[in-house]
Amino acid sequence: MIQFYIPLNFLGFIYREIKQAIVDIEAMFAVLQVAPEVTDRPGAPDLVVSGGTVRFEDVRFSYDEGREILKGISFEVPAGRTVAIVGPSGAGKSTLSRLLFRFYDVSGGRITIDGQDLRDISQESLRAAIGMVPQDTVLFNDTIAYNIRYGRPAASEAEVEEAARLARIDGFIRATPKGFKTEVGERGLKLSGGEKQRVAIARTLLKAPPILVLDEATSALDSHTEKEIQDALDRVSEGRTTLVIAHRLSTVVSADEILVLADGKVAERGCHAELLAKGGLYAALWNRQREAEDAAAALARAQAEE
Ligand code: ATP
Repeated sequence: MIQFYIPLNFLGFIYREIKQAIVDIEAMFAVLQVAPEVTDRPGAPDLVVSGGTVRFEDVRFSYDEGREILKGISFEVPAGRTVAIVGPSGAGKSTLSRLLFRFYDVSGGRITIDGQDLRDISQESLRAAIGMVPQDTVLFNDTIAYNIRYGRPAASEAEVEEAARLARIDGFIRATPKGFKTEVGERGLKLSGGEKQRVAIARTLLKAPPILVLDEATSALDSHTEKEIQDALDRVSEGRTTLVIAHRLSTVVSADEILVLADGKVAERGCHAELLAKGGLYAALWNRQREAEDAAAALARAQAEE
């Protein structure tokens, strides 16, 4: 027996390690984009989070020589507050979140959390302090409960259910044949983009990180789903330092500060009302998006009447 026990146990270990590796880089972009040269300094201490203030100080960055993507970006997300980043496609919004996870090192300036430069602390402690609700969540071929519990493997059944309730996914789960024991993923139940995102929110609620990055979905959601997701996101970001990478603008209205990135620089900053009143780039982006949404709604109405 023992001869079988050891290798099987080992296989289980490998399986868990692979699963762990996949989720540790929750946003799948990380798989492709981790730069091998980003390593811990010998003896790098762990990050110590007191409040969770994030600061970007004159940050410059290029993926490739000769093409600077970020050209001196400075902002602060005070502990517990929300800052949203908006801007045209390709402006460098997601790049900011990759730098915060230290998938790359900045080429100029610095990024700190509670005063500690990201290059001086262990990457493991940095990533443990940040929760990510990605655009497209990867689910394991396992039960819904497993997928939620991944945020904190030691969580009790009651805690998993409470996280699902707060993420507004419990109603959906209870309506499935086996509830929380329903298998999802490739061979199980297929979840929509909005449902997967709510599973990711439940997972993050369990992980309870002090800092949160929300990478908002690019795809349009129907307004009911959008409202449910917005409610769930509001809960998960409550009291946490939150950076919202906004590809749509609907989630940024209530942010404490909105930064408009354009051509690698902060073109405008302020709250929603200030930026609208300014009539600049943000107002133009907002109006264009409203027009597109109105057109889509009119089309849906016309199709329904046919
Ligand atoms: P979107 O709203 O379309 O997602 P974004 O503002 O998030 O765009 P980023 O993904 O940050 O934009 O990309 C900023 C720029 O960096 C783009 O011009 C992109 O082509 C470039 N870029 C992104 N990733 C890489 C990479 N791995 N190597 C080289 N260039 C890259």
